[in-house]
Amino acid sequence: MRITVIEDDDRVARGLVTVLSQAGFDVLRLASATEAMRAAPSDVVLVDLGLPDGDGLDVIRRLRDCPETAVIAVTARSEEFERVRGLRAGADDYIVKPFGVPELLARIDAVLRRTRVARAMSQPDEPLVLGPMRIGLGTREVTVDGTPVALTRKEFELLALLARRAPNVVSRDVILDQIWGATWEPSSRTLDTHIAALRHKVGSAVTIRTMHGVGYRLLSDRPELIG
Ligand code: CA
Repeated sequence: MRITVIEDDDRVARGLVTVLSQAGFDVLRLASATEAMRAAPSDVVLVDLGLPDGDGLDVIRRLRDCPETAVIAVTARSEEFERVRGLRAGADDYIVKPFGVPELLARIDAVLRRTRVARAMSQPDEPLVLGPMRIGLGTREVTVDGTPVALTRKEFELLALLARRAPNVVSRDVILDQIWGATWEPSSRTLDTHIAALRHKVGSAVTIRTMHGVGYRLLSDRPELIG
């Protein structure tokens, strides 16, 4: 996993390169907006918004042409205005200096999960992997530990929807609208029946948690393997 750190402050950059290398990333450090504009794509980019030769926001805007790259804006100021500017320019997230290593790694994990899902959606041949479960969005095949799981069409659509949003909650309304649309009858227990069927079929691989009054969320029983 390749990560690019765009930071002009040598001391901060050294610290970042050290912790990210220790976390297993292949780290490239760049010190200016000019270098960043010419750099090869990577999986994650940390962009300091205060660069001496240009605006980190311009770097972020350029990176929007690479939807598979996750971008985290790094700002020295915690003002809402600064954070909003970074997000508006297209950053996936931001982090305010000074920050701790656990927060940085958690934010990197979160943005990577989103870009991996985006990648899986844009390349349906790439299966969505959640722990021991693989969901082939193009082939519509689901396996758990390599063993195929037979799902009905609606069960597959429901599982794929929950998996794409995992670990976030998907509301009942969104599920009903996206999967059943106009054919949905409010009095029916169709959704509950489908959730029960999915739990029965893939419950060894993932947990489908009921969030009462809200909806459902899909959790991997081996969350470290999500992705
Ligand atoms: Ca700076």
